[in-house]
Amino acid sequence: MTTTTTWTWLGDHLALDLANTVQESGGAMVDLLPDAESFASWREAAPHPLPWCPAPGEQDLAAVRSLRDDVLALLHAALQGADLPEDAVSRVNGTVRESSTTRHLESVGLAVAVPAGGSPFTRLRGVLAAAAVDLLARDDLTNLALCRAPGCGQFFHRSRPNQRWCSAGCGNRARVDRHRHRRATTVLDGS
Ligand SMILES: [Zn+2]
Repeated sequence: MTTTTTWTWLGDHLALDLANTVQESGGAMVDLLPDAESFASWREAAPHPLPWCPAPGEQDLAAVRSLRDDVLALLHAALQGADLPEDAVSRVNGTVRESSTTRHLESVGLAVAVPAGGSPFTRLRGVLAAAAVDLLARDDLTNLALCRAPGCGQFFHRSRPNQRWCSAGCGNRARVDRHRHRRATTVLDGS
């Protein structure tokens, strides 16, 4: 499969950048981290400082994807105001614990997650899991939103209260799609 992922949307909270490694395409969610190559490209594009790790084996990659899926489940529940799925909470906390990740203060408004133990991939997953804990433990998630534009389906932080799309590109695609549907309906109606 040829990947056309450009990762241009990276740069939100690390937990969202991880969760957004799935993307809507033709009504289904597509995994943007299907292999070691795509993972390396995501890592390279990520603006967040992440612990060093070698090229992932199949098991390492599966563990990252599995953490990502837990974070997705937690974000969807949080967005709907539902109880957080306990098994996902427990696995995310377990990943933070396994890597002994703690948060260190850098400057006002900036803390960094520092893993103290485990293999390189355990440490990497520890930092990703700690990001999810940091985001979901905030008492104000009202800016968190899901972009429902075709070809997106990704989480973002609204920069204004009525923002519906994560980017101008998604807004344009959604408008074009709506227009196309309206025209198709008009043609079917014969009106
Ligand atoms: Zn979008």
